[in-house]
Amino acid sequence: MAILDSITSQEAINLENQYGAHNYHPLPVVLTKGEGVYVWDVEGRRYYDFLSAYSSVNQGHCHPAIVNAMIAQAQTLTLTSRAFHNDKLGPYEEYVTNYFGFDKVLPMNTGAEAVETAVKISRKWAYEVKGIPENEAQIIVCENNFHGRTTTIISFSNDPVARANFGPFTDGFMKIPYDDTEALEATLKNNPNVAGFLVEPIQGEAGVYVPTEGYLAKAKALCEAYNVLFIADEVQTGIARTGRLLATCGNCDCIKKDCSGTPETKPDILILGKALSGGVYPVSAVLANDAIMNVITPGSHGSTFGGNPIAAAVAMAALDVVKNEQLTENADRLGKLFRSLLNDYISTSKIVKLVRGKGLLNAIVIDDHEDSDTAWNICLDLRDNGLLAKPTHGNIIRFAPPLVMTEDQLIDCVNIITNSLKNFETK
Ligand SMILES: *Cc1c(COP(=O)(O)O)cnc(C)c1O
Repeated sequence: MAILDSITSQEAINLENQYGAHNYHPLPVVLTKGEGVYVWDVEGRRYYDFLSAYSSVNQGHCHPAIVNAMIAQAQTLTLTSRAFHNDKLGPYEEYVTNYFGFDKVLPMNTGAEAVETAVKISRKWAYEVKGIPENEAQIIVCENNFHGRTTTIISFSNDPVARANFGPFTDGFMKIPYDDTEALEATLKNNPNVAGFLVEPIQGEAGVYVPTEGYLAKAKALCEAYNVLFIADEVQTGIARTGRLLATCGNCDCIKKDCSGTPETKPDILILGKALSGGVYPVSAVLANDAIMNVITPGSHGSTFGGNPIAAAVAMAALDVVKNEQLTENADRLGKLFRSLLNDYISTSKIVKLVRGKGLLNAIVIDDHEDSDTAWNICLDLRDNGLLAKPTHGNIIRFAPPLVMTEDQLIDCVNIITNSLKNFETK
C-alpha cells in the first residue's frame, strides 16, 4: 500500500506495533488533523488536545502564521549547515536574544540536545573561567528531574525505567531533593567544584510539581553566592505555558511587559525547546550572556541542523504569535479559572485529591495507589468524551491545552473533565 489515506485507527495502531520500536505506550487514538485547540482522529472524531505534545503546541495546532513561515522558507532554502552563513540565522539570533534578554544564543534542535549543550557550556565555563581542576566539575540536579533521553541525561535521572540497562553512566552529577534550598546550600558549601545547578522551574514530567514560593529566587541567590551557574530547563515550562513568558518569572508583575525574569530569578543559562517552534519543527536553544557563552569556540560544539533557516524562520514566527495573541495573559487568566472550577469539583470529590499548576500547566492527582490504572482509565473515558490527556507517573493526569483556547472552550473542557471524573467516583 503506497498511500495510506483511508487507514483505520486499528490498522494504524497495528502497523506501529508491528514495525515500530515499542518505546512509548500511547493512548489508543490515531490523529490525522489538528487546528487550534482541536485534533481529529482518522474516523473524523474531534478532540480537545490537553497535552499539546508535552507543551510544544502552545500556539495551537497548525497555526497559519507559523506554517506559512515554514512553507515560504522551505521553498527558498532549507539547510546550509554552519559551514556557511545563511541569511536567516543572524536575524533570528538577534530576535531571540532580544526577546529573552540574553547576549547570545546557541541554536540546537531537540530539548535533550539543548540540555546537553548547557551541560557542556557550564563545564567549560567551570574550567576556563571559574578555575575548577580538570575533570572535577560537578553539576547539581534535582531528584525526579526530567531533562531528556540521552545517555548523559539519563545518567542523572532517577527514573528506573529510563535508566534500566543503559549504563555505564556519565559522572559529574550530584542529586538533591527538589524544592529544598537547604540541601542546595549544604551541597554548595561542601563541594568547591560545582559548575552549575540545573533545575526545572516546575517539574513537569514528574507530575507538575510547583515549588514553594521564593524557591527559585533563593536558589539563584545561592548560586550567585557560590559562583555557580543557575541553569533553568524551561523546555516545558517556557514560552507562556505557565502564565508568564518564562516560569522563572514566577509571580513577578511582568505579564504585560517583555520580561524574561527579574534579576532575582533570571537564569545564567536558559534552555528552551518544544513551543519555540509552536510544535511544527524541532527547534531548541540555549541562551546565556557573553561571560558564559564566550567559552564556546569554533569546533567545540555543533549540530548539522542547529540554526538552519527553516528553524530560524519558524521560531521567529512562533514567538511573534505568543506576543501578538497575548498567550501569556491568556494562559494566566484561563489557568486561574481552570483551577478554581476544578477545585469546586474537588471539594466534593472522593477520587481527586487535588489540582496544582501554574497558567495552563496543571495536573490532578487521583486518590489511588501509584500503580493503579484509574488515571489511565479516566483518560480513556476523557477520550470517549472528546478530550485527550495522558497520565504522567501513575496516578497523576497532566492538563496542558494549547494557549489559544477561549474561555468558553475552557469551560466546555472542565465540564467534560468533571463529567468523566463523576463516572469514577463510585468505582
Ligand atoms: C521534553 C523535555 C526535554 C527534552 O526535550 P526533547 O525535545 O524531547 O529532547 C527536556 N527537558 C524538559 C523539561 C522537557 O519537558
